[in-house]
Amino acid sequence: RAGINIRYTFKNFVLGDNNRFAANASISISRNPGKTYNPCLIYGGVGLGKTHLLHAVGGEIIKCFPSMKVVYVTAENFTNEFISLIKENRVHHFKEKYRKTDALLIDDIHFLQKKKETQEELFHTFNVLFENKKQMVFTCDRPVTEIKDITERLQNRFTRGLTVDLQPPSTETAIAILRKKMVEYEARVSDEVLNLICQKITTNVRDIEAALIKIIAYTNLVNEKITIDLAKEILKDRFTRVNKKQILIQDIQIAVASYFNISTSDLKGKRKNRSVVLPRQIAMYIARELTDASMTDIGLEFGGRDHTTVIHACQRVENQKISDPSIETSIENLKIIIKEEK
Ligand code: ADP
Ligand code: MG
Repeated sequence: RAGINIRYTFKNFVLGDNNRFAANASISISRNPGKTYNPCLIYGGVGLGKTHLLHAVGGEIIKCFPSMKVVYVTAENFTNEFISLIKENRVHHFKEKYRKTDALLIDDIHFLQKKKETQEELFHTFNVLFENKKQMVFTCDRPVTEIKDITERLQNRFTRGLTVDLQPPSTETAIAILRKKMVEYEARVSDEVLNLICQKITTNVRDIEAALIKIIAYTNLVNEKITIDLAKEILKDRFTRVNKKQILIQDIQIAVASYFNISTSDLKGKRKNRSVVLPRQIAMYIARELTDASMTDIGLEFGGRDHTTVIHACQRVENQKISDPSIETSIENLKIIIKEEK
């Protein structure tokens, strides 16, 4: 029964469109271990509930089938255990343990990348368990085909049964999850604040939960109701950046031209007096810093200049920044202006 965290149950796992298939498969597996989906592979990004489901499967099997031997292990611990038992010449203990389980639950199999010997051992373990119709569930943070340096035959084994994925939750599901967590933490946070958390943090459940915990900790500390404004202040470093608009070379040209009181055609043109050459070089330099454009792309946007001109410009600006600190200041100001315009 090793390793199962009974805090993670199906009862406190909130269903949403993002996880319904994975959760239902997991429930079905725990009621019929080895008989429905075997193996089952759950994959999805960080903090989306893979570990939670895996423990829930383990806990539920133990509850329904008390005589079964269930083992939960992370791929990392599986590897470490294997390596240390080899060193101690006690690999038979390892085989004994893992090949005699009724349900083997291995978390984060992407960790097996490059671990050739452990992969080999797991391959044989798999075959024994599969042959004996014992349940296996694996989790992975990416599709198995994207794990590098893993043997093809093991990859094939992982996906031989059912593969299900977890996606980030919708705002509604996220709020439902937080409501459930509040009960667990015996805390009260206003709906307004819950809404704020779930609308602003969209990446994964772990980050959403961490934000809630921060709010709860704060509530206890100041012993007052957390208003929406206070919550914004407390959480401001955690909000997911809403997809910021990309900065274009044209945006940079407009800002630089206006800053130096020249026209954008001066930046693209051929005039060589210092009042246009320096701004032109600065604009290229900033384009290099704030966009993904290549030297060639930048050259083209500046009146069809060659990429070597852009390289030269960037070097010039680097040197001049050192000799003239006001240039550095101008560049920093310009970068702020350009980013704010977006
Ligand atoms: P992963 O293993 O995919 O990185 P975890 O299983 O550790 O993610 O989940 C991160 C946190 O989010 C855990 O506290 C877990 O309980 C919680 N969580 C994720 N999905 C749900 C859900 N649908 N309902 C309740 N809690 C969830
Ligand atoms: Mg996990």
